[in-house]
Amino acid sequence: MISAARPLAILSALAEEQAGLVDQLQGAQRVTHAGREFWQGALDGLPVVLALSRIGKVAAATTSAALIERFGVGAIVFTGVAGGVGRNVQVGDVVVGTGYVQHDMDASPLFPRYQIPLTGQTAIGADAALARALVFACVVGLQGVQHAGRAPMVHQGLVASGDRFVNGQEETARIVDTLRLHGHEPLAVEMEGAAVAQVCHDYGLPFAAVRAISDRADDTAHADFPVFVRDVASVYARRIIAEFVRTCQDSQPRL
Ligand code: SAH
Repeated sequence: MISAARPLAILSALAEEQAGLVDQLQGAQRVTHAGREFWQGALDGLPVVLALSRIGKVAAATTSAALIERFGVGAIVFTGVAGGVGRNVQVGDVVVGTGYVQHDMDASPLFPRYQIPLTGQTAIGADAALARALVFACVVGLQGVQHAGRAPMVHQGLVASGDRFVNGQEETARIVDTLRLHGHEPLAVEMEGAAVAQVCHDYGLPFAAVRAISDRADDTAHADFPVFVRDVASVYARRIIAEFVRTCQDSQPRL
């Protein structure tokens, strides 16, 4: 699933999510590169590089390329938050992406809507084994956790990324309806996943991501988002990654 010879990159979207991981990093070494901080070390004995993606597709792509070229990572796993747009996707749930599409990619009529020009690709799939391991890590890691009186549901499906914090019912409806019109059924919107997926696809690296749902991408999203990040997202990220690292350790010889 992940290479024993190359470290695993764990990308977080937000400093709050990364903090708990840096605290647990064994042999932590901080390296500044491309104006970003990277943390090399081990989590539970598993060699990792921790980084913040930064916000938006270009920033996340730069971070991903640096992780691959400069730090030689063998796979990228991403934790972040997102707006829930799927019918049953509620605040406090998590979405593990099976595919990633850029909802703001539109080079039509030169290329079909949503297609990444010159690649023939529209949605880029996550690595199936990594995504499965993330689903397992969510189910086990979030056992006993409640948000707003209910246990978080673990969803799997399409994630739509774009350079826009989506916070309005009308805007969400426009994005979702247009995606549906083209045969895509998104569960969540965020700002980085499809970019990281594309970079990993170009380099032939496994990629998977999990997003805790911080808001419903509606008129109250900007108010819901910071509270969730502060109180909930960091806890989710820590529990999910701890379980994920354990799963990786079980599935390969100890390093
Ligand atoms: N105030 C924040 C900025 C957050 S931008 C800060 O200073 O750090 C929103 C982040 O959460 C992005 O990483 C994006 O991927 C995700 N996100 C959460 N809800 C979203 C929504 N409704 N639309 C788009 N991105 C969302």
